[in-house]
Amino acid sequence: MTGQVNFGDELVSPEEKTRRVGAVFSSVARRYDIMNDLMSGGMHRLWKDRFVNRVKPRSGERILDMAGGTGDVAFRMAKRGADVTVSDINADMLEVGKERARARGLTGLAWKVENAETLSFADAGFDAYTIVFGIRNVTDIPSALREAHRVLKRGGRFFCMEFSSSDWPGFSNLYDAWASNMIPRIGKAIANDEESYRYLVESIRRFPRPNAFRQMVADAGFVRANAEPMLGGLVTIHSGWKI
Ligand code: SAM
Repeated sequence: MTGQVNFGDELVSPEEKTRRVGAVFSSVARRYDIMNDLMSGGMHRLWKDRFVNRVKPRSGERILDMAGGTGDVAFRMAKRGADVTVSDINADMLEVGKERARARGLTGLAWKVENAETLSFADAGFDAYTIVFGIRNVTDIPSALREAHRVLKRGGRFFCMEFSSSDWPGFSNLYDAWASNMIPRIGKAIANDEESYRYLVESIRRFPRPNAFRQMVADAGFVRANAEPMLGGLVTIHSGWKI
């Protein structure tokens, strides 16, 4: 990639963005789960349940949970009998995930450090690819979508959940005010890390609108690309199929 890209509201080189995103997640890894609860008022658990209901993991299916972090989505899919590989660019997030899996007695998950833009997996090896609250952090999103398409079998399902700016006018302003003021403050109070949480809020604001992202999913070769808004459009589940 050439040219400047956004790291939150700042313009940086693509390499610098990847490096800084790495630093953000290394810095938040140990507090990531408690912060998720605080920032979303526990809602992220319901969103993830809903997401996994859409994916409908089946016993023995091979699923790649990309940007899987500390394993929240992977654990839900593994409990339904899927054979899940959790991949993330950040070894610190995966380390926390492995500890959590051990604490829950969940065995059988595979863990692998991978950049979503350049996967080392063979072509057509997975029945489903999931990425939750991860893709907005990826520097080259079209490359990551093409890689998702490549590693899926024919008939494979792509599912992505991401924040999106709400279309409800009053709600959108209210949420923006809450997010920009409160989330960095909570980050400072709980994790002594205001900057990382400021980045998280800015990255949400900068992520493409659902229709624009749906087009990107279609451009990567997926058919029936769909965007399902939840909670007034604060969060959207995107899906597509490889044929
Ligand atoms: N999916 C998990 C969840 O919902 O709890 C973790 C989401 S966390 C907000 C975003 C994750 O994306 C981080 O673990 C981060 O390391 C990962 N990430 C960022 N850029 C990535 C990339 N290029 N390839 C793979 N993972 C990436």
